[in-house]
Amino acid sequence: MFDALSDRLGNVFDSLRGRGALKEDDVRTAMREVRIALLEADVALPVVRRFIDTVTERAIGAEVLRSVTPGQQVVKIVNDALVEMLGGDPEEGGSSQAAQNAVGLDLDAKPPVVIMMVGLQGSGKTTSTAKIAKRLKETEGKKVMMASLDVNRPAAQEQLAILGEQAGVATLPIVAGQQPVDIANRAISSAKLQSFDVLMLDTAGRLHVDEALMAEMKAVASVSTPREVLLVVDSLTGQDAVNVAQSFTGEVPLTGVVLTRMDGDARGGAALSMRAVTGKPIKFAGTGEKLDAIEAFHPSRVANRILGMGDIVSMVEKAATAVKEEDAERLAKRMAKGEFDMNDLRMQLQQMTRMGGIGAIAGMLPGMKKAKAAMAQSGMDDKVLLHMDAIISSMTPKEREKPQLLNARRKKRIAAGSGTQVQDVNKLLKMHQEMAKAMKQIKKMGGLKGLGQLFG
Ligand code: GDP
Repeated sequence: MFDALSDRLGNVFDSLRGRGALKEDDVRTAMREVRIALLEADVALPVVRRFIDTVTERAIGAEVLRSVTPGQQVVKIVNDALVEMLGGDPEEGGSSQAAQNAVGLDLDAKPPVVIMMVGLQGSGKTTSTAKIAKRLKETEGKKVMMASLDVNRPAAQEQLAILGEQAGVATLPIVAGQQPVDIANRAISSAKLQSFDVLMLDTAGRLHVDEALMAEMKAVASVSTPREVLLVVDSLTGQDAVNVAQSFTGEVPLTGVVLTRMDGDARGGAALSMRAVTGKPIKFAGTGEKLDAIEAFHPSRVANRILGMGDIVSMVEKAATAVKEEDAERLAKRMAKGEFDMNDLRMQLQQMTRMGGIGAIAGMLPGMKKAKAAMAQSGMDDKVLLHMDAIISSMTPKEREKPQLLNARRKKRIAAGSGTQVQDVNKLLKMHQEMAKAMKQIKKMGGLKGLGQLFG
């Protein structure tokens, strides 16, 4: 996601940061590079122009160029402008309900709250419906029902039923021959009767935006009074996705956009232009075919990721699901004391594996893009995690607590036991030493609070 843009901007900023003083010309040169980077990422031209104008105006302000860290300040200005371009942060002064729940949807209405899903055929509408339903069930504890109103595409209703089974979400029983508005009415009565909190209506798609489709969407919206109308578009279609969104905007009361196939979109033009062109916020990003492959779209996190500042919050959220509570407590206690032994290291390694391995984590950490490439080159991959785990398993409990016991003889035994080389054991010990040192430093800075300041 945004890899090419991220790399290009990274280079521009590296050269800006590298200098002590900045002149107006330096900023203008950098902005020309940023402009090209955005255009290459397929961002709509008017959006690029506005962006560059805003940033240039703010950056050549006297305070910025005369400040001690002009390069950093320019990066910060670009970051803020990116966040604005992506739609601003709902967390900061946004609408109340949407900010309150983790999924960013407005569910503040009498149940069953209706969420209507619209979009063209093949955009990923049905899959996204099931993904969001699953999310609402799992993170918000909602009782969700899904109903397919797609009577055009053969087997569309069956597809939703299958996805419902996989997601553990109820679907409205299929009645052959029923028309969309009638299905919507039946779904609403059924959801009411069975006290569902949320009803998701997966409407029919078409190959193109046409009048018949719009008429059907309007009819369904008028009988179901949806709280959210989410348009699903494929990010791989770039500016076409934005155009589709624009044609829907005048016709149905869209409340947001779901951008699918972000996993395959290296450019990101649709994501970057959507809000500025259509005025509609992107609420979700689809990141794969699996039902868990969906993320709430947070402009500030996305901007951070693009600028190579990493995505600490997403990582912490991911970690929260990967880390067992008792492990987290144990680690927090040990960190407070500045202690870190092989058991702690092993726990960390296991968490890394659960979080999707080295690559997944590296992508989220600040400045890790280059480190990731270096790791790949040196053959540091997820197999290494398994080797490290095997090495620690071959240590005795005493050795795990006191790795300083490890002399040459013990190392040889451990290497043999874990099917590795003594140099692998040494590498692990070195890594442990560095992490233990970091823990001591964190303790000195005042524990986790100090760590927060480091990132904040
Ligand atoms: P619909 O016609 O709009 O309902 O589209 P579907 O939901 O049937 O999706 C079409 C195809 O796109 C399916 O094979 C999905 O698995 C796939 N798909 C949907 N969303 C994503 C996504 O975010 N990433 C990837 N890689 N594939 C997706």
